[in-house]
Amino acid sequence: VATVTVATATGAKTASASWLLHFPDREPLTVTFSPPSTHAEVLDAYPAALVAAEPIESGRRHHDTPLAGDQEAAVLAWLSEIGETDETTIADVLTLCRQDEEARRYFLGRAVEISANDDRRCCSQCGNLRSGVCVVARPGGRVSAIVGYRPASPDVLQRCAGYSSTASRN
Ligand code: SF4
Repeated sequence: VATVTVATATGAKTASASWLLHFPDREPLTVTFSPPSTHAEVLDAYPAALVAAEPIESGRRHHDTPLAGDQEAAVLAWLSEIGETDETTIADVLTLCRQDEEARRYFLGRAVEISANDDRRCCSQCGNLRSGVCVVARPGGRVSAIVGYRPASPDVLQRCAGYSSTASRN
């Protein structure tokens, strides 16, 4: 079940594009509104279950700080794990992570929670992926593929006999 919500609200006044929502029965949720929305509009969008909503202050935002490769892979892996497939939502989450420290901490925290119970990894997390090439791939090898094999979906979680958290010497 996807837990990421990118909501759309209407209203003449604008307040904040990002809100942290608190619920009585589940973890806080970071939500992006387009266009930016007032507190009343946020409460209207989440009527019954919401106990509090706080704007993610513009002061906590910064201009596009790139996510490290493994951080982006972790967030993408988490979104995949929870079944989030909407490209706009995925792009919004990554943008939020780049621009907002609180959102980055939240989403990376969720990614760590899931990865702790999941032994699957992405090629993009593997030390054997260099410049898009799996350097241990060879016919009949741990990764049986042509030499110079380029994984087509490096951000997809999988179990691979050749995976290494560090670069391989062979
Ligand atoms: S060893 Fe496996 S996980 Fe690592 S890059 Fe090659 S195919 Fe991907």
